[in-house]
Amino acid sequence: MRRAILIHYHEINLKGNNRGWFETRLHQHVRALLQDLPHGGIERLSGRMFVRLEPASPVEEIETRLRRVFGIANFASAWEVPADMEPIRASLADLIRERSFRSFKIAARRGTKDFPFTSQQINEDLGRMVQELTGAAVRLEEPEQVCYVEIAGASAYLYFDRIPGSGGLPTRTGGNVLCLLSGGIDSPVAAFRMMRRGCNVLFVHFHSFPHTTPESQEKVRRLVGILARYQLTGKLLLVPFADVQREIVAYSPPPLRVILYRRFMVRIAEALAAREKALALVTGDSLGQVASQTLENLRAVSAAATMPIFRPLIGSDKEEIMRTAREIGTYETSIQPDVDCCTLFVPKHPETMARLEQVEQAEAGLEVSRLVGSCLSAAARETLPPDFSSAALRANPVDFKESTGSDGNPGGTGSCARGSL
Ligand code: ATP
Ligand code: MG
Repeated sequence: MRRAILIHYHEINLKGNNRGWFETRLHQHVRALLQDLPHGGIERLSGRMFVRLEPASPVEEIETRLRRVFGIANFASAWEVPADMEPIRASLADLIRERSFRSFKIAARRGTKDFPFTSQQINEDLGRMVQELTGAAVRLEEPEQVCYVEIAGASAYLYFDRIPGSGGLPTRTGGNVLCLLSGGIDSPVAAFRMMRRGCNVLFVHFHSFPHTTPESQEKVRRLVGILARYQLTGKLLLVPFADVQREIVAYSPPPLRVILYRRFMVRIAEALAAREKALALVTGDSLGQVASQTLENLRAVSAAATMPIFRPLIGSDKEEIMRTAREIGTYETSIQPDVDCCTLFVPKHPETMARLEQVEQAEAGLEVSRLVGSCLSAAARETLPPDFSSAALRANPVDFKESTGSDGNPGGTGSCARGSL
């Protein structure tokens, strides 16, 4: 029997006239994701997608990768037989011999309605047969075993287990956004949330080299490599920020420092976003989590930008954010110690309720456009490949949600392209 992985779409089913476009994006993504692995082709048929398997196909690796694809509700490793009752019966009889269960149900679906039996008739026919062969009881609610039968085109697909997908919308259906990525726990999760809504996320990191070590940039590269597993690209902009910080420290009141750092960051990020054709910025702020994230201070930061700033974690607490970070594989890397540019020169008593006029006044003595301009010309761009190298991921694909994704490999196996902007 031929094998195939049968993929069911997530929200694409709701997309009306745009459905074809969403499906095409998903198809392109799955093709790119599996291009280095042997398989027998990827096809769209009857509102589903199929990855044909060959004897040499690494099924576990394919499944592990598919779990990280947005736009997939679930998928299953299936056996393919001709769409006729006789071969369906014979194959199902064969397959259940290797399984033991006390109760079951048949779940038949027809992707093409020209099959001569209704789903209900298929359920009854195969149900009787399985009951006779195994002595197990038919149970429609919570059976021990579900036997799935799906008719699509000239084939029927039989399978027993559905693997949950990542949900969301396919990559590159939502446009470009630029995420301000620190080395912390929150911003990678914020990036993930935007990716899950179909955005292509680019990254910008501000560093204070030589006040910070090269390791903190290495850590950010690793995070980008892990996040690139979900969208297959990892574009990282690195901006030297020490000069801006020095000026802020020298010429503005200490309690406002962090807010001023952030205002410069969003100005610089906005200009970079425009160059990269990104339409919005993304940060990992969560309301009230630290002094710089009070409502007043977030407003003072946002006022420095004209682009929308999305903060997908604004209503999440730290526990939830940490749980997601573990699930998506960024947590272990995020908690590695490092010195972030914002942990340097932090005031003892930061302002928690900055008034905009007060902040603008503090900024009046700084040469804002010169400082922004020199950061922009010193910014460097790197392209990091998705990091599929984690031993933990390979060894235990089913537990991928618990895996850390970090094996010390800085940004994966491929090369890292660098260039000035
Ligand atoms: P994170 O865990 O993402 O670092 P945090 O709780 O430590 O967040 P802050 O340090 O206040 O919060 O940063 C708030 C947000 O500002 C971050 O989520 C990130 O989007 C952005 N940010 C902070 N520092 C940097 C940096 N060095 N480079 C790029 N973005 C940064
Ligand atoms: Mg931080």
